[in-house]
Amino acid sequence: MSEAEGIKALRTEAAQWLAEHLTGKYAPLRHRGGSGDGDAFPELRKEWERELASGRWTCPGWPPEHGGRGLSIAEQVAFQEEYGLAGGPGRMGHIGEGLVGPTLIAFGTDDQKSRFLPGILNGTEFWCQGYSEPSAGSDLGNIKTRARLDPATGDWLVTGQKVWTSLAHLSDWIFVLARCEEGSVGRNGLIFLLIKIDQPGVEIRPIRQIGGGAEFNEVFFADARAHARDVVGQPGDGWRIAMALLGFERGISTLGQQMSFAQELDLIIEIAKENGTALRPAIRHRIARAWIGLRAMRYLAMRVLSTDPDGDVQREGLSYKYHWSNWHRDLGKLAMDVLGPEANIISDDWRRERLQQLFLFSRADTIYGGTNEIQLNILAEQGLGMPREPRGTSK
Ligand SMILES: Cc1cc2nc3c(=O)[nH]c(=O)nc-3n(C[C@H](O)[C@H](O)[C@H](O)COP(=O)(O)OP(=O)(O)OC[C@H]3O[C@@H](n4cnc5c(N)ncnc54)[C@H](O)[C@@H]3O)c2cc1C
Repeated sequence: MSEAEGIKALRTEAAQWLAEHLTGKYAPLRHRGGSGDGDAFPELRKEWERELASGRWTCPGWPPEHGGRGLSIAEQVAFQEEYGLAGGPGRMGHIGEGLVGPTLIAFGTDDQKSRFLPGILNGTEFWCQGYSEPSAGSDLGNIKTRARLDPATGDWLVTGQKVWTSLAHLSDWIFVLARCEEGSVGRNGLIFLLIKIDQPGVEIRPIRQIGGGAEFNEVFFADARAHARDVVGQPGDGWRIAMALLGFERGISTLGQQMSFAQELDLIIEIAKENGTALRPAIRHRIARAWIGLRAMRYLAMRVLSTDPDGDVQREGLSYKYHWSNWHRDLGKLAMDVLGPEANIISDDWRRERLQQLFLFSRADTIYGGTNEIQLNILAEQGLGMPREPRGTSK
């Protein structure tokens, strides 16, 4: 079978499986759980993860020896697109599947792989990301959370605070970047720990967001225990592991995200035709530009994800986060202008609510995963060879 035929067969298999399974009790999950809707139906979406696992559709890009299908990039993209087209809900397991799993496969011990990968694969264990702190966001090297060695057990006792921790209240485990060497600064002296959330030294406090939901949290540690065997890499070498994990963050799932962007744009066009705003030249132009931006995003992502040897592709890849996040934030503004005065009214019209959430949540798109200013700095320094900006004392 040629590659193209293989991808077509995979698309058919995935579409058929999703049509048969995303139904009945799972039907309410269609198109739910995306941006700004992250705490919709959490328990049912966890069940959905187990349903997906029964069809071997969790972690399809993982190597077969770790339980995945070993799908190529093109095949994973095809699956993500079919998932989006079928209205597959936002994945509760995406941090485990997309970040923790690949990091453990690359850097974990055999014991860590055998204990943690099956829970991610089977949809029975959920993870969250404990990097940001009140004074360590863009400047992640400023981490203050401390990990102290307990000489009696070899375990690490963790004290400090994380913030903006998405889905911590629905997770079983958190991966934490903490400072393990007294007096160290910046990237040195950090440790990458896997910590069980359900233990006495961990407290989670929800943060209410502008859209009404509370999908992220503050997480406080007071001598929370990370077992000796749950250090990834070596103590002191946490920065390297943390950065490798971030490298996995900008992967295939971005193509799936684009399917939901396309649905949002379709909805805006539908409403613009209904309420007559589609006749206004300024709105028509913005809609046309939004469509062009989405197509450009798709081709850029495909090119960056492919193994194209062109050196420039790496540089273009640096612009991707900036491109999609600003495009999406502008789409939120366009949605409000198409809705007009109705945008201000809270009602149970699902179309209006979806666009209001789009507007409110997309304000965060240019912050998480690297703010606009940081993305432009990275592009200027790494992509265009401009001088490094002066760094603070923590670097
Ligand atoms: C929806 C959402 C979900 C999140 N989920 C998680 C999560 O699950 N886990 C987690 O660990 N974190 C999470 N975060 C946190 C996110 O990673 C941080 O918000 C982000 O790194 C920015 O850090 P900060 O908020 O501390 O802002 P700061 O770093 O304090 O930045 C404030 C402003 O200063 C600007 N700035 C900072 N440094 C520079 C510079 N050198 N040059 C120019 N301008 C600069 C920034 O661009 C920004 O405009 C989430 C955030 C959001 C919004």
